[in-house]
Amino acid sequence: AISVRDVWVEFGDQIVIENLNLDIASGSFVSVVGPSGCGKSTFLRMVLGQDRPTRGSMTLDGKPLPDEPGADRGVVFQRYSVFPHLTVLGNVLSGYEFAQSPLLGKLFGAKRRAAIEKAEELIVAVGLGAHRDKYPSALSGGMQQRLAIAQALAKDPKVLLLDEPFGALDPGTRAQMHALLKPLWARLGMTVIMVTHDLKEAFTLGTRVIAFDKTRHDPQAPGRFGARITYDLDLTRDVAVPV
Ligand code: ATP
Ligand code: MG
Repeated sequence: AISVRDVWVEFGDQIVIENLNLDIASGSFVSVVGPSGCGKSTFLRMVLGQDRPTRGSMTLDGKPLPDEPGADRGVVFQRYSVFPHLTVLGNVLSGYEFAQSPLLGKLFGAKRRAAIEKAEELIVAVGLGAHRDKYPSALSGGMQQRLAIAQALAKDPKVLLLDEPFGALDPGTRAQMHALLKPLWARLGMTVIMVTHDLKEAFTLGTRVIAFDKTRHDPQAPGRFGARITYDLDLTRDVAVPV
């Protein structure tokens, strides 16, 4: 579970996130929506461990964040999440090897064979079985995002962080990605936090939808108020939680 307590994020004199309190249950699929610039990516970076709150605290399964960035979290961005100089297999393997030995990188012998086997399973699971030895430049945008998902999953992450992962894809390909992601999440049981600008996507995939907004914009002092949660909808209980 992820717990966020009294978190503020400020860049200089700009308040980006204002007093955020949030509990995310393990295994849930949380969609985060909200206007551009309201702090969605900043929030994901804090969960990833790349950014730290100015004030307040965050924990993942009781352990304070940030710890080692990305240790048990996988991440997929809108684009450019994969290494262009590695093949499909090499990319997925790199995610796995990093998780196994972040300092040494490469695995050898039996460990490496086991890693390859596992990487190949993931490649098949995301529908890239026929493209194992291709480089990203030979893949479509949708295939590259499938690869990015497989790479992120190679770590066996507790949490999968998705920042507008399908934002650059056409509607048909997006629909394919939805059909891929939801069963994968259901099967693997990890927590997913997905930022999206597409409300339909947010509600189709999420078990919970959280909206961030800068509710109190001050024209005299832009940036004086940060984003807060304006709605928090638990789709499994079909009720809106007042915030
Ligand atoms: P979008 O939907 O456009 O991706 P977002 O909700 O993800 O927007 P963020 O990228 O989190 O928004 O940015 C929130 C605010 O914080 C913006 O005003 C941005 O300029 C500011 N910001 C983010 N990172 C930094 C940083 N490292 N230094 C200074 N300001 C930053
Ligand atoms: Mg963003």
